[in-house]
Amino acid sequence: MIEARGLTFAYGASTVLDDVDLTVRPGRVLGLIGPNGSGKTTLLRCLHGGLRPRAGSVAVDGTPVSAMSPAQLAREISVVVQEAGGESTLSVAELVLLGRTAHLGGFVRARPQDEAAARAALVRVGALHLARRDISELSGGERQRVLVARGLAQQAGHLLLDEPTNHLDIRYQHEVLTLLRGLEQTVVVVLHDLNLAAAYCDDLVLLDRGRVAGRGTTSEVLEPDLLRRVYEIDVDRLDRDGRVHLLFTPLARHEEIPA
Ligand code: ADP
Repeated sequence: MIEARGLTFAYGASTVLDDVDLTVRPGRVLGLIGPNGSGKTTLLRCLHGGLRPRAGSVAVDGTPVSAMSPAQLAREISVVVQEAGGESTLSVAELVLLGRTAHLGGFVRARPQDEAAARAALVRVGALHLARRDISELSGGERQRVLVARGLAQQAGHLLLDEPTNHLDIRYQHEVLTLLRGLEQTVVVVLHDLNLAAAYCDDLVLLDRGRVAGRGTTSEVLEPDLLRRVYEIDVDRLDRDGRVHLLFTPLARHEEIPA
């Protein structure tokens, strides 16, 4: 379980997160949504200790992140972010093995259990056949699955991902999110696409200019009036077979957004 209380963060003088509370319950998939610049990536980075908040705290299973050593933290939380890496000469197997660094405690030779964990992670994402390929040769979808495999090889209880569907076509978007849904880990995922959030997240936190504008189950948060206010776009919602589907229409320029 990850719990954030009263998180406030600023880059210089500009406050980007303002008194944010968040609870990620064990085994759930929690989506962070919100317009561009609302603070999603910054919040994710505060959750995994990559950024230190100005005020407030983050705890993982009751232990403050600020009190954990990097190795301890890496055993609790793995992070999947977009990486350029096009010029890298690592093989897929080597990249996934890097996920074991937390357990190895630095650059020492991989042990059999590390090789086994890396292999199991590649099997889990359906990418074992790519193991010997150079990562610079992979398609976007393959690459994304391999980055998730690296996160899984770390065997942390919590997996945090920033926009894992970026640059993927529709089939791979669904493939990556289906994969995440099937994990035993607790997942926090930043998503732009609200229909993907609707389909794959149990819970959502909606950010608006650094504040929490909505939190709860996916169905509770994806309320058209709330989304209209935050995103400044018209939203129709269809509930079909227990799933939420959203349709968007731009507001006419002269329309007022109710406060
Ligand atoms: P989101 O992920 O929702 O798009 P971000 O957390 O990336 O939002 O950014 C929130 C705000 O912080 C934006 O206004 C952005 O311009 C600003 N910001 C992000 N990173 C930095 C940085 N390294 N230095 C200064 N401002 C930043």
